[in-house]
Amino acid sequence: MRYPFYIAGSMFPSIALPGLQKAANRYVICPFYHAVSDKPLPHISPLYRHRTEQEFRADMEWLTEHFEPIRWSDIDRYEKAKKPAFCLTFDDGLKEFYTIVAPVLEEKKIPCVCFLNSAFMDNRDLMFRYKEALAKQQIDWQHFLENEQPYMTYAQVRELQERGFEFGSHSMNHPHFYKLSLNEQLNEAIGCEKELEKHIHLPHRLFSFPFGQEYLDPVAIKVHSGTHELVFGTANMRPGGGNLVNRIAMDGTGFSARAVITGEYLREIAHQRLHD
Ligand SMILES: [Zn+2]
Repeated sequence: MRYPFYIAGSMFPSIALPGLQKAANRYVICPFYHAVSDKPLPHISPLYRHRTEQEFRADMEWLTEHFEPIRWSDIDRYEKAKKPAFCLTFDDGLKEFYTIVAPVLEEKKIPCVCFLNSAFMDNRDLMFRYKEALAKQQIDWQHFLENEQPYMTYAQVRELQERGFEFGSHSMNHPHFYKLSLNEQLNEAIGCEKELEKHIHLPHRLFSFPFGQEYLDPVAIKVHSGTHELVFGTANMRPGGGNLVNRIAMDGTGFSARAVITGEYLREIAHQRLHD
């Protein structure tokens, strides 16, 4: 149900944004991405459409024009002050965050948190969905992992930390949490942090749910929230409650940031009118 809103969003002039923000009573948005690349990525392209560098730059230009780039710790303050702002995050710790994304964000002075899966750091393993995508193309995943090195290394992450980027955990193996017991979920979430902390310093406990939190038991969401400073979900512009912040998926469609964000404002307003 995203597309009709994004088509409508692409037709709305940006000048209408303040009116939409007022109508939705939402001022801080949290867009998130996974990968940015100019060439097709064999492990990702069969699963979803990622941005090219030029598309990503255009997104950042539109966002910074209409929203102030802020750090996660400022979300509440800006929302309460009704000041339009965006808090950017990336998931999955892919190497393009180091090679393509970080330099663009530095140039545009946009802070960002990147969420890592401990099992894949230093290219020791590959997410199961990437393995499936490669298998369909008859590509040997171990060979691919060794040759392409699709993830960041700890050395790169440490360098990015020195350059001001922040990192959080995204579970050890990126499983579907709804298929796991609460204990198994906690083992994945906390185990990831423990493993990451052997290699990098994590001054804050930030977590993003692998595959989002929408199919999780509210009790499980509460427990994860309780063990972290801030947790990030994927229910777009819906209020998270407590220390859960929802994010808007920017990958997956060819729609621009303007179309997606404006469309999500329209969707949120429609949702509030129908349900709240
Ligand atoms: Zn992920």
